[in-house]
Amino acid sequence: MKSFKDIRNEFMGDPKVASRYFNHFMVMAEILFFLFFLIGKMYAIEWVVLFNFLLTCAGYVMIRKNKLREWILSVYFIILDIMTAGTMAVGLGYGFHLFTISMISSAYYIRYLGQKMSGAPMKPLVVSFLALISYFTGYIFIKVHGPIYALNTAIETSFFVVNSLIVIGILTFYMSIFLKMINDTEAKLEKMALVDKLTGLYNRHYLLTYINSIEKEKLDNYWIAILDIDNFKKVNDVYGHNCGDYVLKNIAKTAKKTCSDCTVCRWGGEEFIILASEETCGSDILERLREKIAGLQLEFEEQTISVTVTIGTEKHAENYTTEEWISYADQKLYAGKHNGKNQVVY
Ligand code: GH3
Ligand code: MG
Ligand code: MG
Repeated sequence: MKSFKDIRNEFMGDPKVASRYFNHFMVMAEILFFLFFLIGKMYAIEWVVLFNFLLTCAGYVMIRKNKLREWILSVYFIILDIMTAGTMAVGLGYGFHLFTISMISSAYYIRYLGQKMSGAPMKPLVVSFLALISYFTGYIFIKVHGPIYALNTAIETSFFVVNSLIVIGILTFYMSIFLKMINDTEAKLEKMALVDKLTGLYNRHYLLTYINSIEKEKLDNYWIAILDIDNFKKVNDVYGHNCGDYVLKNIAKTAKKTCSDCTVCRWGGEEFIILASEETCGSDILERLREKIAGLQLEFEEQTISVTVTIGTEKHAENYTTEEWISYADQKLYAGKHNGKNQVVY
């Protein structure tokens, strides 16, 4: 048995799957209506139901042939005709007219999907307008003429409840889709803004925001380190840029794993910044990281590559701005570079 979430995810993933689900739903509703009108001896309206049923079956062919725009138009037609005919036949008490409301939410979602497909479907505002016409056509007909068939109130009540539940169900379903779409998009944008694509590490923007968010009194417990790959230009020159990227990814992975209690980010190019408070992680971790990286045997296209890194680290002091703090670490890094590389300068 599929859960609500499974169905929703499938629904959102592929317009064809979504269409097929909706078609199954319509077939079930049409069978229900057919039986209902048969029991009520409302034979005239059965022709509408029968026509809709055949059109729904043709809908499967349209979906298979990727004629989704035609399918959507047929669905709008089916909903509008059954809403209007249903209301005229039995009156407002059965809740057929309520389907206008769910139709509007569907129209907006379909419009959203349509923007991704070829051949955009009908404008949702037009659909809303057609739904409105159908809604009031039924209403005015009942007010002027009264229902074509009279039925007992027990059936009326149960039908009103079933129709209301279907309409509320459809609305809930679409609203949950809209919410999930908004949340997913926000999470994706946030990730794109704060995470480096190549290495999956946080980026410079994240780091600066994070440092700003640390309370001033606590900042003096923190140390920062800049790590720069030694002779990285040579890796690119000798083995190619793709290999350089591969090395960057592996160094990022090693840094993240070794300094799992620290904040590790890609500062830019082949430079990384590591940040932690003394309480959670001492800066002696940096020496271990340097050794681990130097010991890596990276296999790329049948070649084995080894690299080393130089690291400069600086503890925070009361009067430091973030820029000064980073530049002091940077100065230590350059001291290390001039002193033979492959070392941590404290
Ligand atoms: P040093 O030991 O002094 O740090 O020398 P280096 O060669 O590492 O330093 P340099 O700054 O001269 O070169 C850094 C190189 O890093 C140059 C640039 O092409 C390369 N680089 C920067 N970002 C990327 C990247 O995303 N991918 C790849 N493959 N290379 C990059
Ligand atoms: Mg550099
Ligand atoms: Mg370098």
